[in-house]
Amino acid sequence: MTHMEALQTFAAERYLLNELSGRERDEFEEHFFECQECALDVRAGAAFVTQAGTELQSSTQAAPEPKRRPFFSFFTLPLAGVLVAAMAALLIYQNVVTLPRLRGEIATAEAPAAITATPLMGAATRGEDVPTVSATAGHPLYLNVDVPTDDRYAGYTLQVSGADGSHVASINISPEQAKNTLLVRIPAAEHSGGIYTLAIEGLQEAGMPGVQIAQYRFRVLNAN
Ligand SMILES: [Zn+2]
Repeated sequence: MTHMEALQTFAAERYLLNELSGRERDEFEEHFFECQECALDVRAGAAFVTQAGTELQSSTQAAPEPKRRPFFSFFTLPLAGVLVAAMAALLIYQNVVTLPRLRGEIATAEAPAAITATPLMGAATRGEDVPTVSATAGHPLYLNVDVPTDDRYAGYTLQVSGADGSHVASINISPEQAKNTLLVRIPAAEHSGGIYTLAIEGLQEAGMPGVQIAQYRFRVLNAN
């Protein structure tokens, strides 16, 4: 059995649930002794089952009156089944959804790429003439921002707010960084469309609230 086959047939989950046929079981055991990833899946799953079992036991023992025991043991078996199913669902979710997405994000971050950033400089702070940024789900937004520097400030913070005024991001900028045009990345998220605000605050000293020194607006358009 190859690792791909193990993943595609959910061999680790089915192994834990004792659902593999004799031959599949042998083949998977042979594979996971050599495959760290599958061995880890099996070990994590087995630990979960053991822990769930222990917790069930202690909750049964914690039952105050002995005559209640039958009531608890009646539920213990189906509940254990539910927990095992939940664990299997979690493992499947990790393998099918989380891990491929993580791997995809890492691959994207490592691949060479030209990044298009939307310049906010000179953007009107009022009115309809605001720069437009196209947002694709799962991709960050890139903006070019100039910070109007002043020796009074020990640092700067960019505060990005969504169309509904909700907080989107806070980014700290050192005076050194502020000397050049910044490339600002707003992490991938569900960017709802509308007019966003990027406010630049100057920080005079630690613990003091920032002083707003500039405000840019930009329109986020959902491309999908
Ligand atoms: Zn494997």
